[in-house]
Amino acid sequence: MAVAAVHVLVFPWPLQGHINTFVPFSKALVNSGVHVTFLHTDHNLRRVRCTAAAPRLRYLSIPDGLPDDHPRSVGDIFTLMESMSTTGSAAYRALLLSLLSPGSGGEFPPVTCVVADGIMLFAIDIAEELGVPVLAFRTASANSFSAYLAVPRLLELGETPLPVDDTVHGVPGMEGFLRRRDLPRLAPAADGHPTESAAAAGVHPLLLTMAKGIADCGRTRALVLNTAASLEGSAVAHISPHMRDVFAIGPLHAMSAVPGPAASLWREDDGCVAWLDGHADRSVVYVSLGSLTHIWHHEFTEFLLGLLATGYPFLWVLRPDMVGAAEEAALRGAVGDGSKVRVVEWAPQRDVLRHRAVGCFLTHSGWNSTMESILEGVPMVCWPFFADQHINSRFVHAVWRAGLDMKDVCDRSTVTSMVTEAMESSEIRQSVQALAQRVKRDVAAGGSSDAEFKRLVGFIAEHSAMARHQAHTPVITNGDVRHQD
Ligand code: UDP
Repeated sequence: MAVAAVHVLVFPWPLQGHINTFVPFSKALVNSGVHVTFLHTDHNLRRVRCTAAAPRLRYLSIPDGLPDDHPRSVGDIFTLMESMSTTGSAAYRALLLSLLSPGSGGEFPPVTCVVADGIMLFAIDIAEELGVPVLAFRTASANSFSAYLAVPRLLELGETPLPVDDTVHGVPGMEGFLRRRDLPRLAPAADGHPTESAAAAGVHPLLLTMAKGIADCGRTRALVLNTAASLEGSAVAHISPHMRDVFAIGPLHAMSAVPGPAASLWREDDGCVAWLDGHADRSVVYVSLGSLTHIWHHEFTEFLLGLLATGYPFLWVLRPDMVGAAEEAALRGAVGDGSKVRVVEWAPQRDVLRHRAVGCFLTHSGWNSTMESILEGVPMVCWPFFADQHINSRFVHAVWRAGLDMKDVCDRSTVTSMVTEAMESSEIRQSVQALAQRVKRDVAAGGSSDAEFKRLVGFIAEHSAMARHQAHTPVITNGDVRHQD
């Protein structure tokens, strides 16, 4: 099938980290000649304020079923899951069905393939039911995917996620250095109660649900991962036998220019790059805990006092939903005239990380943030919260030597000593910069991610052609010949 006749509907889970992966993915698909419809939720499409799409790229949206003032925060994630799999799912089905008819999309050909976030199994099932080939895209690390796949074995061995140092033997390829405290953990519930206590009492049912969701990605034509051979080649190799095909095509953000406002749910603070311009090379600590985390008051205090004690200037992203009145008052005192401390609600993170003034990144170890920091050769101090963050931070520290893992210990003196070490250690800096070079080779022309991306485009074209052929193959029923529709 001619590439221009291929039309991929891409459908990310409607949260910032997922959108940030799907945007460069869509742009890369468009650059390879295919048409792409990017499916947002109505709520997010309004927030990202994107209208001008590139040729062959357009944005559509469906309702997520929640009122506009709903926080859609990590504590309410189940409400979002529930409403997406009811209201969102019905709207998605109706939209996809309409996009299958020739002439329905103006200059866009009918949809020939869906790449859906693997979190949304309903999106996968509906596409297959309508005869559209579907691939699952999981935006977290391959290492965490591999750990979730291993959950049945981990349960057999009694190796559940807990903040203890016992070594884990149940995740293939990670024996010897992965500890129970590094296994993927669950996000806190809406009432703020840490779910670890539930897990400690037995096995939290959500862990089993997550593990099943991961294994179910094997039902799709292929799994797409935003990772590179030099980062997670071993995990990808362990995942492959469980899937029909696997494509490791990342880090996707390295394939395109910085995602502009089209990808951001918050308004970026324009002034922080100018503020960085006024600082010496590698003198500033950048602090950001991603788009979902909530920081408790005592953690906030230890971070603040620990950072101030380093003596380095710091730029701290604190989303409005992360801080209350008490934190704001403490910050006002710390910020002073703003020359040494700058606090913003949202930063242009990739511009910040590539700025010469940034010396280290105090991060929650989200997968995008981890890869963005590695690509810019910036050492990390990791304070993981949930999901893949605990395993990512273990790899940052123990495998890639790209930073230090602070997990489970948050006191001001640890913050001070780890940030100081990450700022000053030439060993860590050299190690992360060497890794950056290897990953850049993966995404460059002829590298493994580049080759996998080209193979993926061919795979999508081939499956699109097969589906189109089946749709036009005559079917004989009771002696009558009709065409499948
Ligand atoms: N990000 C940003 N500005 C900020 C904080 C984060 O642009 O002030 C971006 C960051 O570059 C990354 C994404 O938000 O691409 C966060 O994704 P990640 O996987 O690191 O964490 P999540 O938010 O999903 O937990």
